[in-house]
Amino acid sequence: MTGVTERWNAVRAEVASEAERRGRNPDDITIVVVTKFHPVSVIEELLDAGATDFGESRHQDAAPKTEALAGRELTWHFVGQVQSNKARAIARYTTFIHSLDRDSVVEALRTADSQVGGFIEVNLTDDPGRGGVNDADEMLRLAELIASTDTIDLRGIMAVAPQHDDAGRAFERIATLSEALRQAHPNATDISAGMSADWRDALAHGATHLRIGTSITGNRPVQG
Ligand SMILES: *Cc1c(COP(=O)(O)O)cnc(C)c1O
Repeated sequence: MTGVTERWNAVRAEVASEAERRGRNPDDITIVVVTKFHPVSVIEELLDAGATDFGESRHQDAAPKTEALAGRELTWHFVGQVQSNKARAIARYTTFIHSLDRDSVVEALRTADSQVGGFIEVNLTDDPGRGGVNDADEMLRLAELIASTDTIDLRGIMAVAPQHDDAGRAFERIATLSEALRQAHPNATDISAGMSADWRDALAHGATHLRIGTSITGNRPVQG
């Protein structure tokens, strides 16, 4: 039976070889291990195995985990939907928020006590009700608002590819939007895209941050 450490080692090695195959430096790719619904012990095992970046998607789960691991050296990424009234609390423990998708969250973060790195989430589905900005205009408008804060350092864009769609086309769209963002905000070069099922495609289209859960952690426990 393989465990978390073996799977982490396997995924890390495969990401490095895929990066090299694409002419990318593996050091430029961040693997964010998404540990939502898993206990702190899984994160501790991954830390011992050399993982450094972890992602959580719900504030009520993330807050106690980050507190339990406060003495360890690691970087937190918040990847789930942010409620405006929780945004400042989230900013206290996370280094990055991948899911900035509307004005109210940015306005709440404007008065945060600590700086965060931010990604604008783009919605690649046809359903405008899903999280994320819906087009380049909305993205650039939100980017301007982010740039007007002292508390958010705009890093780039984030997306979840539609599951039953052609992932390649979705990632091409991310790459195009990323280019448009970079023209207006030259430092916002990062692309957070790719999960367990589609990270190879995302990497091929320029992803810098792969958010990988189940391939490393195993199946998520049933959530309570
Ligand atoms: C859960 C989650 C992931 C990881 O998904 P896997 O399919 O388990 O790799 C990545 N990104 C976000 C936003 C998530 O919520």
